[in-house]
Amino acid sequence: LASTALYLPDEAATEQLAKALSDIFSHYFSNSYEKNSGTEKSAKVYLRGDLGAGKTTFVRHFLRAMGVKGRIKSPTYTLLETYKVSSLYLYHFDFYRFTDTEEWHEAGFRENLGEDAIVFIEWADKAGPGLPTPDLELYLRYESAGRTAQFNAFSEKGKTWITKLIH
Ligand code: ADP
Ligand code: MG
Repeated sequence: LASTALYLPDEAATEQLAKALSDIFSHYFSNSYEKNSGTEKSAKVYLRGDLGAGKTTFVRHFLRAMGVKGRIKSPTYTLLETYKVSSLYLYHFDFYRFTDTEEWHEAGFRENLGEDAIVFIEWADKAGPGLPTPDLELYLRYESAGRTAQFNAFSEKGKTWITKLIH
């Protein structure tokens, strides 16, 4: 499935969705057969939506569900927060403060984007067209008291994950 939209009436629903995605990613990254196949093993999710739409909240619940302990900060000022669970790296970027599209390049972030890791990027559009295509885009919109979460897939992996999410 190339896209799906879900209504999230409150933050608990956002938490549930983040948990569902973490289950899917955990399974994907723990599959040792695929891991040794020589193909790249990564998950890239770009988050879109206005300020306060719930991008950081979603990633925070996702990281918790993956087993990240301790404080989970928004990367608004640091641009990148790095986490490690077992041998898996998780990168949480926020490009909101980028003023020009080359800045992320100069910051050396391309290395992180080429790794076998889970990558979340808030405000990816501020980095310009040099960023790799994500597997998934998560577009969060205000809707009545809650949010609508729209997933769009840009890779075969992404399509598989959307299909799993809604089952
Ligand atoms: P962003 O990173 O997109 O700027 P934040 O995650 O920092 O947004 O803030 C989102 C705010 O919306 C938080 O106060 C959070 O409690 C709230 N929120 C998150 N998900 C929902 C939801 N599904 N319904 C209502 N409020 C939500
Ligand atoms: Mg944010």
